[in-house]
Amino acid sequence: MNSVFTKAIQILHMIERAGYEAYFVGGSVRDYLLKRDINDVDIASSATPEEIMQLFPKYVPVGLQHGTVMVLHENDSYEVTTFRTEEGYADFRRPSSVTFVRSLYEDLKRRDFTMNAIAMTREGEIIDPFHGEQSIHMKEIKTVGEASERFFEDALRMMRGVRFVSTLGFSLEQQTKEAIVEHASLLQHIAIERITIEFEKLLMGQHVQTAIQLLIDTKLVDFVPELAVYKKSLYTIHNDVYMVLPTKAERWALLFYTMGITDPAPILRKWKLSNKEIKKVKTFVQSVYELEKKDWDIYSLYMLGKDDAIAVERIRTVIHGESLDENIARVVTMYTSLPIATTSELEVNGKDVLKWIQRPGGPWIAELLHVIEREVLSGKLPNDKEKIREWVYTWDQK
Ligand code: ATP
Ligand code: MG
Repeated sequence: MNSVFTKAIQILHMIERAGYEAYFVGGSVRDYLLKRDINDVDIASSATPEEIMQLFPKYVPVGLQHGTVMVLHENDSYEVTTFRTEEGYADFRRPSSVTFVRSLYEDLKRRDFTMNAIAMTREGEIIDPFHGEQSIHMKEIKTVGEASERFFEDALRMMRGVRFVSTLGFSLEQQTKEAIVEHASLLQHIAIERITIEFEKLLMGQHVQTAIQLLIDTKLVDFVPELAVYKKSLYTIHNDVYMVLPTKAERWALLFYTMGITDPAPILRKWKLSNKEIKKVKTFVQSVYELEKKDWDIYSLYMLGKDDAIAVERIRTVIHGESLDENIARVVTMYTSLPIATTSELEVNGKDVLKWIQRPGGPWIAELLHVIEREVLSGKLPNDKEKIREWVYTWDQK
């Protein structure tokens, strides 16, 4: 068994010793059967959240209303969720109430896809009432139970189905796909935050182009913010191209570039990304556009900083189908030859300047430091305290 599970076996054992059932479930079992890297181990148990909290001294009650307690054990954390069924689905969203049950079968039955509805005991025995292993073998994404019904209960599942196409390279089983085509519009009832999580996982998958194509074919794309208008350009980027870009921000930036959008901020605000993320994507997109007008220069490199400059160069390179290693090496060389890499490397600071020039403090200090920074960057002035002092003195005379 995988080492991630081996460590978690103790948790299962402890729950079982207290007289309850506990199993590995969900994505970790699926990925284990697929021999893929396992992210996080999810545990399902017949014990209620209160019972779990009594068993483990260290925990975080992350989602008690859904039955989830995060158990902290030997520097690792595990989400333990009580077996539950979901009831009272209103407005095609998640259920209004959950009922804790003592049956594993009921818990597996409420899960979205057969491949995600497999449980595993701590001995490695597979419990698979909905034939998820067969689906995994056939690389198919198939709902547990009747597809239309399951999408009516929670329309996000349609989006999840397509994102698994991207992350796993599976296909939608025929009836599951037909049900998505039929009910795509239900996605409009889903909170954008939940759609964003799935879309970003889709973006990070290995089969982005395939999945985006599917978003378009199933018309789900009409119910996510803004993308529908750009359909045609969206599937022009090949799966392999996305794969070169290791971060979410880079992949978003590539997407906006293909859509011909220079300022992605208004759209990303609709997707409810954080201001920090929006700023990063915007910087990437705009830098790529600027590089089409003129090559890297000292200032653009310095302003971006090394990591972002490399990221931008990666995006630019894949767009033009150039050699990545060569281009990155060139940018790194240019960056390394900058006289200073950050403001903190400047030999002088505001205090020095104040000492040298007899003037009350004010915004002029920052302005002067900025001029010094540019002089040093351009190589006109050495980054040497004494030399800078002389320069400041002459500047003051002017
Ligand atoms: P990943 O490896 O990307 O995390 P995952 O399958 O673990 O994939 P999660 O979103 O972490 O996906 O959900 C964990 C499990 O919870 C799923 O495997 C599935 O069994 C169940 N699940 C999650 N969302 C839903 C949903 N909307 N409807 C039904 N079951 C769901
Ligand atoms: Mg998961």
